Formats: sequence, C-alpha cells, structure tokens
Amino acid sequence: MLRRAFLLAVLCLPAASPAAPPHKALLIDGQNNHKWQETTPVLKKVLEETGLFTVDVATTPPAGADMSRFLPDFAGYAVVVSNYNGEPWPAAVQAAFEKYVRGGGGFVSYHAANNAFPEWKAYNEMIGLGGWGNRNEKAGPYVRFRDGKMVREQKPGPGGHHGKAHAFVVTLRDLGHPITAGLPPVWMHAVDELYDSLRGPAVNMNVLATAYSDPATGGAGEHEPMLMTLGYGNGRVFHTTLGHYLEAMSCVGFRVTLTRGAEWAATGKVTQKVPGDFPKAGAVSMRR
Ligand code: ZN
Repeated sequence: MLRRAFLLAVLCLPAASPAAPPHKALLIDGQNNHKWQETTPVLKKVLEETGLFTVDVATTPPAGADMSRFLPDFAGYAVVVSNYNGEPWPAAVQAAFEKYVRGGGGFVSYHAANNAFPEWKAYNEMIGLGGWGNRNEKAGPYVRFRDGKMVREQKPGPGGHHGKAHAFVVTLRDLGHPITAGLPPVWMHAVDELYDSLRGPAVNMNVLATAYSDPATGGAGEHEPMLMTLGYGNGRVFHTTLGHYLEAMSCVGFRVTLTRGAEWAATGKVTQKVPGDFPKAGAVSMRR
C-alpha cells in the first residue's frame, strides 16, 4: 500500500518547472528617434506576460558606429519585433532578414519601425506603408478608408505625418481575422500619435483597423490605417502604427493587439482570450 502510494505520488509529481513559453521572439532596437531604452522593456514585458513568448533583445551599435558585428540569428526565432528606426543594416543582415520572412518567419513592425529604411525595397513591401525618410509618391500610394472601402491614392505628396497626440477611436475593418476576432469593433485608444498619410507599396496588405485623423487635431481628414497584416513570401507581418510612448503603451488595446499580432505573426493563429478590461467605445482602459 505504501509502495503504491509512493508510486502514485511519483506519477503525479508536477514537471520540474512550468512549461517554457512556446515561442521565441527577437526584439531589435538600438537606434530610434523614440526612447527605445524605455519602450523596449515594456514591449518585452507585455509579450512575456502572455506566457507565449521568451524575448531576446538584439541592440545595434549606435548611429555612426561600425555595424559589421550586428549579426542577429533570425532563423532561431518564431517572430522578430522591430523597435528600430535608424541607419541601414549591413547588406548581409538585410538579405538574412528577407530570407527569414520570405521563408515563413514572423515580423512585427512597431510604431516608428515604419519610419525606417525608406530605400530598402523588400522592407517596405513587408511593412506595406511607411512614413518620413523623404518618402513621397515614389514610395507608393496613400491608403485610406472612404465610405467603408480601402482607397489607394497616387497623388503626389510626402509620406508620413501626425497631428497633436490625443486619445482616439480605433475602428476595426476586419472582424474575422484571428487578431481581431472577438474584439470590440470600436474602441478608445489612449493618448498617442495618430499616424496619417503613410505611403508604401501596400501589396498583400489587409487593413485590420483604422482611425479618423481629425483636422481639429492637425490630422489629414482621412480614416488612416492603424493595424495591418501583410504577407511576404511565406512570412506573416503584423504592423501596428500605435505606441508612441509609455502612455500609449499602457493602453490595453495597444497591448492586446500587439500580443495577438505577435502570436499570429509567429504561428498564423491566436490562442489568447480577449481580456475583460479591453477598452470599449467610450473610454480608454489602461494597465500600468
Ligand atoms: Zn512617435
């Protein structure tokens, strides 16, 4: 009897440690016109809190320094998250990144990562739309929503702008995508920059959510893409324009769309439940 009890106890012992998070993520930073030293820890924490990711950080040398030793091993990761907006990566790193995404890797472009690399054709195809960096009509069309439909506009003009930061309503345009399924169709985002007038090739691009860039806050008077998915080869890209700084990153809507987007980019599926504190139409919802 004793022996049986012992055996049962052994059989019922929990594993030595809790299951490791299933997905490896690589977060890239090191140069940005934003405070990457403060935003990277938040991105890492938010991703790791899901229990789905372990996050390694690859930091490039500072601007002007030799970048030849920046050689991240993209192939070892399910998803690469970029918090980088700086000097071009070495050609070999660009080629490795293209190969990684084309071969089925996941990529998340976060906020000013869509300002980066205006000259890198494949990168712009991955992000679909970008801003600043002297982007203009040569980068591709403006993409807006008018009367509920996506409109590509080729007219000349600069790419990338935002008005005064403010809280704004985010409207989902694709309720059936794994990233957005179950989310409120309209929700209030915390104070943030509302990027407008982005331009890019915008191919294989699905706009998940837009926001109205109101002339009253210095905006373009258009419904602008906020969240997007893209296909690049066999790879999946999630592009969030949101999250300028810590206030915006405390928004539950920002966090949940980021982690759902990262999981989808990594796997093509989303297993995360929609939390009860996800913002609704009328009020922001924050986590500190
Ligand atoms: Zn910003």
